[in-house]
Amino acid sequence: MADQSFTMTIGGKAVAGAASYPVINPANGELIASAPDCSRDELDQAVTAARAAFPGWAARPIAERRAMLIAMADAIEANVETLARLVTAEQGKPLALARFEVGFLTLWLRESARMELPEIVNQDDGERRSVTRRIPLGVVAAILPWNYPIGQNAFKFGPAMLAGNTVIVKPSALTPLANLKLGQILRDIVPAGVLNFISGSDGLGEWVTSHPGFDRISFTGSTRTGRLVMASAAKRLTGVTLELGGNDPAIVMPDVDVKATVEKLFWAAFVNSGQLCLATKRLYVHADIYDAFAAEMADYARGVVVGDGLTEGVQLGPVSNRQQYDTVVGLIRDAQDKGYRFLTGGLPDTSAAGFFVAPTIIDNPPEDARIVQEEQFGPVLPLLKFSDVDDVVARANGTDFGLGASVWSADVDAAFAIAQRLQAGTVWVNEVQHLAPDVPFGGLKQSGLGTESGLAGLLDYTDAQTLTVKR
Ligand code: NDP
Repeated sequence: MADQSFTMTIGGKAVAGAASYPVINPANGELIASAPDCSRDELDQAVTAARAAFPGWAARPIAERRAMLIAMADAIEANVETLARLVTAEQGKPLALARFEVGFLTLWLRESARMELPEIVNQDDGERRSVTRRIPLGVVAAILPWNYPIGQNAFKFGPAMLAGNTVIVKPSALTPLANLKLGQILRDIVPAGVLNFISGSDGLGEWVTSHPGFDRISFTGSTRTGRLVMASAAKRLTGVTLELGGNDPAIVMPDVDVKATVEKLFWAAFVNSGQLCLATKRLYVHADIYDAFAAEMADYARGVVVGDGLTEGVQLGPVSNRQQYDTVVGLIRDAQDKGYRFLTGGLPDTSAAGFFVAPTIIDNPPEDARIVQEEQFGPVLPLLKFSDVDDVVARANGTDFGLGASVWSADVDAAFAIAQRLQAGTVWVNEVQHLAPDVPFGGLKQSGLGTESGLAGLLDYTDAQTLTVKR
């Protein structure tokens, strides 16, 4: 893949960039390709192109914008394999999951294309007619993390473009290649300047959030960076949507089918090697079934195949980059130093070329352990024992995060009553991580601000405007 050249898409044109930087495969530490390192001047060019394209795009009938979303989905579908292989190479996940990720984007594009922007009649009588409609914001920045480089776009450019905005996508510096390829695929379909893709190493995100040419920053990433984004955007009162971190609890009641629930919750925690905002990050199991559950889960974990995501049969790829690997290894080392018991896994061989970590499950560490309190965002999970519902609800809510949560029980009503007490943007009963294009998604507390998906997510890319006629 080292001979491939990757270009930014600015104003409908390929831009190689004055400088470039290396992108590394986390499975083997090898260079995949170089990505353009966007300069301030090139960022200005992208903003100028997006601003120039905005009036024309916003003025198009919504039917044309819907058709564009469908055409984009068709073009992406025709290139699933190319995009998925790039995602696996730069991010590490198994190829099947990378294909799913590309499909997630096309599904969201198709479903976003069907959405309606509501118009509300406030008054319509002999005195006046007053209508509130939704109008686009202008130029939207989509700042993406590295965990689902293509999939994260589902919440960004489709709904933003349907609402009439133009968009500049900035992927993570660590995973730019699939997005650059996406730009190349869409470049000949989308009118020049409507959808731009830029890439850069350190500093580009900050340049974007402090640039006067954006009307909305739609950011997905860590809570720490989210604060910086908001502070930077506040200087110009630019609106922000923030999808941030989580420390999602799952609560397992004693009446579940242990074997079936173990398998579901293993994947809830370890899918994408745990690098999912909505991954189950704390697993509370009732004392009556704790030992059986722990034994079953350890057994299951030992059978899971870890390796290079391009290899057939691999179920978990490497941790996605050096920084995250160091975070995960640090949490495992802390657990080891504190003398917590490991059900599976443990410290990896840090001299290996790839960032591989076997699924690591820690046996009932104390509630104030780092692995319980901090977001691990990797393949290490604390299994925690509880016997009292009020106690487990307090522990589940005892975090600044509030993204997702789940409750598992044969008694759906009892589980639903617990679900209603949990402080999270989405709480599932007997399933987890189910998202849909028409269902709003967002975090409570420090897990986010604003909403993605659903009507609420679409409206986040608009302003309300009221038009009044006196009769
Ligand atoms: P980061 O917050 O480090 O980075 C996210 C994006 O922000 C990257 O594109 C990054 O660019 C950019 N960025 C970095 N610094 C700034 C800045 N000062 N101003 C503007 N942009 C900046 O997150 P990660 O990529 O490390 O992703 C992992 C984190 O994201 C986890 O905490 C996870 O929970 C969270 N997350 C949340 C999701 C959600 O939907 N709630 C989904 C997925 C992840 P660069 O790469 O150049 O640093």
